[in-house]
Amino acid sequence: MSASLPFFRYHPDPLASRSIRAASETCVCCNRDTGWIYTATFYTAQDVSGRFCPWCIANGSAAERFAGEFTDSYGLDGVSEDVLHEVTRRTPGFHAWQDPHWLVHCQDAAAFVGEVDHTELAAHPEALEQLRVDLRTGGWHDESQLEHFLANLGEGATTMLFRCTVCGAHLAYADAS
Ligand SMILES: [Zn+2]
Ligand SMILES: [Zn+2]
Repeated sequence: MSASLPFFRYHPDPLASRSIRAASETCVCCNRDTGWIYTATFYTAQDVSGRFCPWCIANGSAAERFAGEFTDSYGLDGVSEDVLHEVTRRTPGFHAWQDPHWLVHCQDAAAFVGEVDHTELAAHPEALEQLRVDLRTGGWHDESQLEHFLANLGEGATTMLFRCTVCGAHLAYADAS
């Protein structure tokens, strides 16, 4: 079914991430019921639910009409303005405890893969190691506590996994309630 959805370079499977789901619901931008509805974040000063169809996200009409963004630009450093706008204005955001943000690799925004637990993260050792280094940098100095935290990802704290659109490397950040 997903073959009929628009393609999002920086969020290739919004059904798997549950940002978009099958629903008979009217898009608040184009007023059509396409059978698909967006359920994740939309930041705007206007009073609108953010329940858009995937097409109004992909063509930028929802973000333009409601002067909003699906994702904060936090973390999107060193990418071109085109990429910045594609992520914040034309790409579905995702469900997270904290405000979702995007990771950058090879001077391009990475593609959001989804929320993963420790087992799924461990399948990408480079992402696990990068997260370990980031947590140490962020102030985790007790190695056994750090390993305990990583081993229990999926319970309370979770991980957002991305894949570089240029070199294919996986990246992750930890998200907690
Ligand atoms: Zn629409
Ligand atoms: Zn890369």
